Amino acid sequence: MSETCEQKVQQLHCSFDAGVSRPFAWRREQLRRMKRMVSAHRRDIEHAVYLDLGKPAAETALMEIKLVLDEIKFVEPRIGRWSRRQHTAMPLLMQPARSWTVAEPKGVVLVISPWNYPLMLSLEPMVDAIAAGNCVCLKPSELSPNTSALLERLISQYLDPRAFAVVQGAVPETTELLKQPFDHIFYTGNGKVGSIVMEAAAKQLTPVTLELGGKSPVFVDASANLNVAAGRIAWGRFTNAGQTCVAPDYVLTTPELVEPLAEKIATFTQKFFGDNPAESASYGRIVNTKQFDRLAGLLPTNGKAFSGGETNRKHLYIAPTILTNVDPNDPVMQEEIFGPILPILAVDNATEAVAFINKRPKPLALYVFTRSKATRLLFERHTSSGALGFNLPLGHLLSSRLPFGGVGASGMGSYHGKTGFLEFSHIKTVTSKPTFPDTLRIAYPPYRNIVR
Ligand code: NAD
Repeated sequence: MSETCEQKVQQLHCSFDAGVSRPFAWRREQLRRMKRMVSAHRRDIEHAVYLDLGKPAAETALMEIKLVLDEIKFVEPRIGRWSRRQHTAMPLLMQPARSWTVAEPKGVVLVISPWNYPLMLSLEPMVDAIAAGNCVCLKPSELSPNTSALLERLISQYLDPRAFAVVQGAVPETTELLKQPFDHIFYTGNGKVGSIVMEAAAKQLTPVTLELGGKSPVFVDASANLNVAAGRIAWGRFTNAGQTCVAPDYVLTTPELVEPLAEKIATFTQKFFGDNPAESASYGRIVNTKQFDRLAGLLPTNGKAFSGGETNRKHLYIAPTILTNVDPNDPVMQEEIFGPILPILAVDNATEAVAFINKRPKPLALYVFTRSKATRLLFERHTSSGALGFNLPLGHLLSSRLPFGGVGASGMGSYHGKTGFLEFSHIKTVTSKPTFPDTLRIAYPPYRNIVR
């Protein structure tokens, strides 16, 4: 008989309480095993992700496998250093006394992951949670079933079964899982479900990390190197057929640049994927018909895309599409696109771009292409986003040294590297005072005028 999710979670709590996941040597060993698991099964992973998303193997190798291996490589040797006591001075009034903080594991962590980077978004949070000494329950996405099944098989084969569990399923199973007690919930996905997760967590006062999405804008000004901007925007937007949380969602630029920029992005798209991207081995597909229909509904009804616009529902194909003549009230500007469609809108200048962005929910990422120092400062000081990239979309995602997370509607909390280690740790304050001399007695009642 298969274990229920309640039994699985209970087992993880027993293991955590027994101290299974605390020793540094155990943590390092699990990370080394995960490294072996991912390295030895590269082809299986690439194949599973291809079956789920039509994702080119090279994209899986770079944006999923390499990122997980890089995170392990960065985190594993640093566990001891990050866990070390941090001593700090006590106020004079408390002297003699000592104090320090220590990072302790939170306990049993639930990781709920989405389908768009089904391996990376499952394993990277796990790496940080393991480094911090936690047991982990993973709920991968039902919309990437091949990768989810592979993850379950490999995790049970490679990692310590006492400390890890995988629960498969869709809404009913996740709803059931969310009723179980956890010490932290790490959710990646859309904001609507994010609030469902947070509501469930609130019932048990469980802390959450919410890695959400939203519309990540790009601003390009006249000082920018237009050619480089176009190439990088095209790469950021059309990788994984646009299904990347930090992909450029729309571009703002000055009126005279709309056409030349659209032209250049279209040229890069043609260089990347040829005359017919449907035949390109470098271009992915939309995950399912539900997402396909949603995206097809965002294309202009008069068929007037600047470039692209072709679709094939049977093959879940939507061509890399650039839209100009877009009104801010159009449906394509009301929700995160999360597909290979790129609207370009005109604004008069950088100040207007900032106002446009600040009128909308805080984005997960914001990208600015400019050579102007003043424009850089304007965006850095007057906008808020999970991350801000100058001339560089997606770059921050690739570094374990940088926190990755959203703000406001795009999420709360962050991870990767030390930030992730801290996210999955409780920073415990420890104080210690000798019993002799008993100086604390000066604070005891009855009060004299000593502290005024
Ligand atoms: P999804 O549909 O795979 O959902 C994510 C997870 O939530 C899945 O495991 C799913 O089973 C679970 N889920 C779905 N409905 C639920 C419910 N009612 N109750 C409980 N759990 C439920 O993925 P998605 O949400 O379509 O993912 C796309 C979104 O995620 C986009 O908005 C994207 O920007 C965002 N995203 C964010 C990041 C990030 O790191 N910030 C990364 C990737 C994707």
